Amino acid sequence: MQLNSNAMGMSKNTDTHFNVALTKGSEFSKSFEFPKDIDDSILIDYLKLSTEYSADEVFWMDTDSTVIYVNQSACLKLGYECHELIGMKVWEWDPLFPKEVWPAFWEELKSLQSVDFESLHKSKDGNIFPVRIKGHYININSKELLFAYVTDISLAKQYEEKLESYNQRLEDEVNRKTRQLQAEKELVHKHAEKLEQLVKQLNETVDKNNYLQQQLYDEAHTDALTGLYNRRHLDKAFAKEVTNADRYNSDLSVIMVDIDHFKLINDTLGHQVGDEVLKQLSKILSKRVRASDVLGRWGGEEFVILLPNTTTQESETIAEELRKLVAYHKFGDAGEVRVSLGVAKHNNGEPSTILIHNVDIALYQAKRKGRNRVETYTHDLNE
Ligand code: GH3
Ligand code: MG
Ligand code: MG
Repeated sequence: MQLNSNAMGMSKNTDTHFNVALTKGSEFSKSFEFPKDIDDSILIDYLKLSTEYSADEVFWMDTDSTVIYVNQSACLKLGYECHELIGMKVWEWDPLFPKEVWPAFWEELKSLQSVDFESLHKSKDGNIFPVRIKGHYININSKELLFAYVTDISLAKQYEEKLESYNQRLEDEVNRKTRQLQAEKELVHKHAEKLEQLVKQLNETVDKNNYLQQQLYDEAHTDALTGLYNRRHLDKAFAKEVTNADRYNSDLSVIMVDIDHFKLINDTLGHQVGDEVLKQLSKILSKRVRASDVLGRWGGEEFVILLPNTTTQESETIAEELRKLVAYHKFGDAGEVRVSLGVAKHNNGEPSTILIHNVDIALYQAKRKGRNRVETYTHDLNE
């Protein structure tokens, strides 16, 4: 413990250390409101007794710290006979008050008039306890004295320590909980990140899967040579368009295209030239059909176009256009190629097999009538 010279306002020329912090005590107000009807001699006895019975220790000390009076409380607390304490000096029972600081303390007391501070008192049997001291400088008729009132603050200190330890434990617990929460937060954060990653991976897998499925579907429904829809797809398309036409009572036509004497191209120019003809023909057909039409390779050198919302007449026109487009096209090594086309329309309520059958008949008729022409199915043809 060091003397708090700021609080105390110690004179600068002292190098002694006083191990307590002094603060200026309360101002002394001289209002002796003692009862007026009591004789002075009796009043003095009363004052003696009130000092004597005070719960606080009361000391009167000379300018050199010599005790000239102590009350009963002081004797009891310090464990000395009162007559033993008379003549003793403060450093004999206060371990924080070394003899050397007394002159500085006295000067400070005179300057402040009253001081408050905490210190320790040591009883005769060696027991040390904390105290709060209020010291007052008294000067009456040039006789200087120190009145000291000393309160045992052991209990208050104990409570203070308990409170401090309780607060410390509370603070430790709060810190521990905070750290725990922080760790849990980090863990949750890590889990969330991991989860986010997993969801991302899952989405990627789903996308990839969808893509692969689409690819598989496309492959399964596409003709490898021409890139057009294959027979499998056309079968489904026929069923779907027939159902739609029936439901909405709308027109539905179909064109079947067959290369004339294709076998001859293969036989004379080779299979590869034949393949090239099939590919080029696919392109010609693809360019002409509308987005709502369904074009596919029916098999071999035969192609089918499904034309929703299209009358027989309109289909005949398209078929004729296609025939001409092919006829005027130069097929590379194959040179000129001709096609025959059959046209048929769907009759409400009939199954798709009938439509396919009818367009096949129309195509057969075109072949029969000399090829490189368009024929439309009529009932007469079927008879
Ligand atoms: P028509 O005018 O009566 O239709 O006579 P065509 O020779 O075209 O008909 P046919 O049915 O006798 O012959 C069709 C040929 O098409 C037979 C077959 O080898 C050929 N072919 C079928 N698929 C392919 C293919 O993918 N590539 C090639 N190069 N030829 C094919
Ligand atoms: Mg054929
Ligand atoms: Mg043919």
